[in-house]
Amino acid sequence: MALTHNLGFPRIGARRELKQALEAHWRGDIDEQELKDRAATLRQRHWSVQREAGIDLIPVGDFAFYDQMLNMTALLGAVPARYGAGGEEVGLGLYFAMARGTAAQPAMEMTKWFDTNYHYIVPEFDANTRFRIASQQLFEEVAEARALGIVPKVVLIGPLTYLYLGKETEPGFDRLGLLDSVLPVYRDILARLAALGVEWVQIDEPCLVLDLEDDWLEGLERAYAVLSETGSVRPKLLLATYFEGVGAHAGRLKELAVEGLHIDLCRAPDQLDAFLEGYPADKVLSLGVIDGRNVWRADLSQVLATLVRAQVSLAGRVWVAPSCSLLHCPVDLDLETRLEPEIRDWLAFSVQKLREVSILGRGLNQGEDAIRAELDAADGARRERRESPRIHNPATQARLQRLTPDDARRASPFAIRREKQQQRFRLPDLPTTTIGSFPQTPEIRQARAAFRKGEIGNLEYLEAMRSEIRLAIGKQEEIGLDVFVHGEAERNDMVEYFGEQLYGYVFTENGWVQSYGSRCVKPPILYGDVYRPEPMTVEWIRYAQSLTEKPVKGMLTGPITMLMWSFVRDDQPRSATALQLALAIRDEVVDLERAGIGIIQIDEPAFREGLPLKRTDWSTYLEWAVRAFRVSSSGVRDDTQIHTHMCYSEFNDILPAIADMEADVITIETSRSRMELLDGFGQFKYPNEIGPGVYDIHSPRIPETGEMLELLDRACQVIDPRQLWVNPDCGLKTRNWPEVVTALERMVDAARALRARLGTSDSGTGASPA
Ligand code: GLN
Ligand code: ZN
Repeated sequence: MALTHNLGFPRIGARRELKQALEAHWRGDIDEQELKDRAATLRQRHWSVQREAGIDLIPVGDFAFYDQMLNMTALLGAVPARYGAGGEEVGLGLYFAMARGTAAQPAMEMTKWFDTNYHYIVPEFDANTRFRIASQQLFEEVAEARALGIVPKVVLIGPLTYLYLGKETEPGFDRLGLLDSVLPVYRDILARLAALGVEWVQIDEPCLVLDLEDDWLEGLERAYAVLSETGSVRPKLLLATYFEGVGAHAGRLKELAVEGLHIDLCRAPDQLDAFLEGYPADKVLSLGVIDGRNVWRADLSQVLATLVRAQVSLAGRVWVAPSCSLLHCPVDLDLETRLEPEIRDWLAFSVQKLREVSILGRGLNQGEDAIRAELDAADGARRERRESPRIHNPATQARLQRLTPDDARRASPFAIRREKQQQRFRLPDLPTTTIGSFPQTPEIRQARAAFRKGEIGNLEYLEAMRSEIRLAIGKQEEIGLDVFVHGEAERNDMVEYFGEQLYGYVFTENGWVQSYGSRCVKPPILYGDVYRPEPMTVEWIRYAQSLTEKPVKGMLTGPITMLMWSFVRDDQPRSATALQLALAIRDEVVDLERAGIGIIQIDEPAFREGLPLKRTDWSTYLEWAVRAFRVSSSGVRDDTQIHTHMCYSEFNDILPAIADMEADVITIETSRSRMELLDGFGQFKYPNEIGPGVYDIHSPRIPETGEMLELLDRACQVIDPRQLWVNPDCGLKTRNWPEVVTALERMVDAARALRARLGTSDSGTGASPA
């Protein structure tokens, strides 16, 4: 009989209850016991929801007070020495110290979980790392679930993935060498789970979808052989992979000493055959057929056909599941009371997805007729979606048809554009600028909230924002920057702001997804052809420009970032959606130019995170992503200067693609990594202008002029100073004004000092920006 199961449920709560409890605890409003009680209530609710949805095996151990990788660090006792844990149990105090830092110790590093927007706490390894069971939380949760009559399938991160995703904190140390010492602890954990009556453990090894080196692949076999050595008592193991295919390792995985495998058929449907072929008769194969990474209702008929085919070939050993943990999906569509009913009918959030899993399980066990009504309903909804006039915009389609290679190309090469831009702006060498946003003060947020609630009208809101713009322009004059920004006071979020003004987007009330710790994001849903009915930013920028002689940069979000930070259509390739977004942004760029704005920045902070997990897929992505950016930015004259901005250093391996974007200027995060990025410029000569961030905006600490100067000096060693811009790492919206003013004053001093040293002029000739 086919079983249904779930790989993980969103832990934050449909109304972000966990967020509220955590933050209340961190503020000191509720004690540890109260926090634990609220967490237990939430877990209990989530287990019941999953049971009611009809799921057979319910995940336990997917809960975390901060992050699942940090849970493993606690469970395995791999606390970095600097937190001074000694041999004690890892309680919540220590757990939060690692996650959030203390007065004495900064937090552990956090990074993105594969290609999701979820961030995990990176384990730290060195020669002194020792493992032992150091937390009881998992075992307590198992007992808790059993007491409620839940059949738990315990979720653990596997030893290989745990080590792989960690980092060495000692030069020359090889973390794979820790495998032999971590395995005995995994054995102990598994033995304890068996003693608690756990029948199945889902052991997550998503690192297998990456381009793994051979020694890691050999480690995989060794690890699971050790966990199955005679004498070890353990539950059955379901080894789970997701986010990509593992077809290349099918042979190895089929032979692995585990009782089942889970594969992701949403991201990698083609891998199925490699597994069906010669699949061992004593193993189950769990098929991830409901997309855990997007919000659309599934094509149940088509999925059922796949499942039936697998079931026939595996003689009944198929399990049905979402593709991955539902952590990356909003919780419950039923809470969305304000969505257009038509669009709502096309969607499925976590709860609805589990119902789909359950329906499919029934279909598989009892035959198609048993779920006829559900299949018809799903087919109907998909047909309506396909045919809905809401998603089809003939004007957008026609423009896509008309696109020519010239639309993705500036009129002249960079050398010519540069000369014309220099003529026009007459900026000094090492021009100073910022990335776009200035502090989002409580007054700004209040004004926005009041406007949204209808407490203040259009004019009052306009004036409130205009006064913020005046303030920002005045401060920039005083600081002495060369290229100004308007400050982005009117934007709550760089994607939402544009999404709200474009056709094709809808917004949810409660579609929260955990990003890190208690932080959640609410990605908009892009359901239809994108269309820009009217200018989105022009009036704000035009107003800012009217207040100063200095050039004010127009500020837009680029097509790839709009795509990456939204739930997007699954009925056309992502590249097609990116191109539609690019056209809308192109229109805005052209309108800004027409309004006399000479410098326009198109932010692409998410460009790097769009990179596929497997290197072989990189070039295809980079090709369409670069093209989309170029379509958005190429509609302007030679003397209009296009900037782009990217966060998160790690760019060295895609520098040629970034150069291919043809932005006249790129500003980029570098200060946190002490300009590591610049190593890449040793090999690759970046052709256009570039502003490596000279100070970290994420920290309240204000660096001295000398530190910034030092970073600039290092930049000068690999980049021609005539190509260099001087700017912070990222936008300043999370800082306060006194910090910002001091930091930027020092930054301007650093630029002036360097100009003096290089013997170049300090002031441009102050030509009019327009
Ligand atoms: N222009 C945006 C800002 O300054 C860029 C934000 C980002 O890079 N994430 O806030
Ligand atoms: Zn940034």
